[in-house]
Amino acid sequence: MKFPFKKQLTLTVACLVLSFSATAQESPATKLLKERSAEFRKDVVKVTDGVYSAIGYRASTINMIEGTDGIIIVDAGQTPAAAREALAEFRKLTAKPVKAIIFTHSHGDHTGGAISFLEGGNPEIWARANFGSESNPFAAAGLTIQRQRGARQAGANLPADKKINNGVAPAVPDNERVTFEDGAVKPNRTFAEGRKRIVVAGVEIDLVAVNGETEDALYVWLPATKVLFSGDNFYKSWPNAYAIRGTPYRDIRSWADANDTMLKEGATFLVPGHTRPILGQAAVTAALTDYRDAIRFVFDQTIKGMNQGMTPDELVGYVKLPARLAEKDYLREYYGNVEWAVRAIFQGYLGWFDGNPSNLFPLPPKAEAERMAKLAGGPAALLALARDALKQGDAQWAAQLCDHLVALDPSAPEPKLLKADALTALAEKLLTATGRNYYLTVAQELRAAAKARE
Ligand SMILES: [Zn+2]
Repeated sequence: MKFPFKKQLTLTVACLVLSFSATAQESPATKLLKERSAEFRKDVVKVTDGVYSAIGYRASTINMIEGTDGIIIVDAGQTPAAAREALAEFRKLTAKPVKAIIFTHSHGDHTGGAISFLEGGNPEIWARANFGSESNPFAAAGLTIQRQRGARQAGANLPADKKINNGVAPAVPDNERVTFEDGAVKPNRTFAEGRKRIVVAGVEIDLVAVNGETEDALYVWLPATKVLFSGDNFYKSWPNAYAIRGTPYRDIRSWADANDTMLKEGATFLVPGHTRPILGQAAVTAALTDYRDAIRFVFDQTIKGMNQGMTPDELVGYVKLPARLAEKDYLREYYGNVEWAVRAIFQGYLGWFDGNPSNLFPLPPKAEAERMAKLAGGPAALLALARDALKQGDAQWAAQLCDHLVALDPSAPEPKLLKADALTALAEKLLTATGRNYYLTVAQELRAAAKARE
């Protein structure tokens, strides 16, 4: 059962209008990403008796389990306002008090709304004992750059017409501050490893520690109804094994193992940390199997290529998901990107040095740019080449040439404007929403910087 029906119908009509008005020059990637927004239309899905998943309320799924004398919330969404909205929908189903909140991991998009579920009560708040372990090193190092890159990745500062969605979640609404910090509400019950059985409002709930997207991740298993809440170790997209906002190495082998462990539960219903639930045992088994296999394939191929002496730049051409996996909707690169995973695996195991001694002490950007300009016949000729490259459709090369031009003269507006155009062209062709948002945000920043110099 899905509701409210009226709202859903209106949105369906809106989506149809959108697809008919799509412009002719829209790339297949843009079209596909726009279609993806249907996955996050605001909705409360009945998963099975007593289990509901609210989708489209920013940014994670917000889930409710109904027990005898209370409810349990699995992940609280990103903002108190979005959580209040989801709770209002749940309150149409039951007035029972919130007895427990479970955080599948510490990311702000799953915890930031928790305060809205307290309702003056004192619920059990469950998480892993190492809750917040990913963000702790950033805080300790005083890294503010991650916030800026996070906003770029999320497209938080883009105008509404430039934000399609985030690949696994709706676009950030205007004026919402994006944070990836822990929510203000902290866990008051924790467990470290393995499986922890709790009983809340008469519901038997297993919390199972499985490292994956983060090292403080858990999944939630309801043995009686065979519902599995995967947190972010499964959502319908190739996983974000490396987030371009900047993350420590995410152990992709553990991530695959987490899917294997979840698979063995034999779930009938799978509720992801983002995107709509998968209903039916066969579909759940297929999804978790493919996800595990895809991650393992990319890991194994990357290691194989590394052992042949390939550099990251070579590896990204070598490691390709087999078509049988790549064509699955839940493995498309809506959010994460296979190339970024390959680079992350290399970095995670061998660090920054690609093995080529020319790169032990590379030329600084300006010194290299001076030599490139000389090759081209001077800076003006280099700019002309960059313009030409973009005209010919080689936006990547145009952007790289612009980097040299910017290094030569950081105050000149032309290279910045040209690079902005090149990044915009790259964004149009990229399915991965995080990369696309990043391109478009930096393009916007470059245009603003160029204008400031006029
Ligand atoms: Zn998430």
